Amino acid sequence: MTAEITPLIAGNWKMNGTSVALAEVRNLAARLAEGGPPRCTIVICPPATLLERLSEFAAPAGIVTGGQDCHPALSGAHTGDISAQMLADAGAQYTIVGHSERRTNHRETDELVRLKALAAMAANLIPIICVGETEADRDAGRAESVVASQLAGSIPDEWAGQGIVIAYEPVWAIGTGRTPTAADIEQMHNAIRRDLVTRFGDRGAATRILYGGSMKPSNAAEILRIENVNGGLVGGASLLANDFHAIISAV
Ligand code: PEP
Repeated sequence: MTAEITPLIAGNWKMNGTSVALAEVRNLAARLAEGGPPRCTIVICPPATLLERLSEFAAPAGIVTGGQDCHPALSGAHTGDISAQMLADAGAQYTIVGHSERRTNHRETDELVRLKALAAMAANLIPIICVGETEADRDAGRAESVVASQLAGSIPDEWAGQGIVIAYEPVWAIGTGRTPTAADIEQMHNAIRRDLVTRFGDRGAATRILYGGSMKPSNAAEILRIENVNGGLVGGASLLANDFHAIISAV
């Protein structure tokens, strides 16, 4: 991990969790209180239905919250969607945009992801912009060029507020239990860093690049020690306080 960047561990609950799941966050908060101050920013992105409640009781434990997606518009006739301003109003400080499940299930393009990131920043949220190659891309040797193209199209030229976070999530590693080798993660994160620095200079050098895809207690320490890995975006393992706490403790 790069020493001068405060790492970030973000949990993405996806479409999981009802009120009962809040007990896991209480459990996590209790475990955090037992140890010293965490060496990372901790974010939980619950379903929108839990965002406000979770934001209220997680804040004293030093846990901040995020949305899982936002609409590019401020408001309007978009049934079923949620705006960045609504997420902020419910207590969120971050929002994921461009998760591969959104890109696949809802055919989201880089351009739409870019507009969502802009909407997030306009609402004072930090967008966690997700990129990552498919297995076919990697097998064909085009993983880096696919990610470079996603970065070029999904990151806005203009940043507001506290900037952005990038999450590199190989699609084939999400929810599968499979992870790239440490060397492959390092190569991709270094390429993303070069890209960010070329385009944004010092801001690019200070931007957090998270790894996501089957991060769990057993592999977190190894992944988090890789150069230019500034934290993790965690799906399945963020649902249980014990696992998520173990990953936070691995920082
Ligand atoms: C994710 O969905 O962002 C993710 C990384 O999922 P998992 O950790 O379950 O692979």
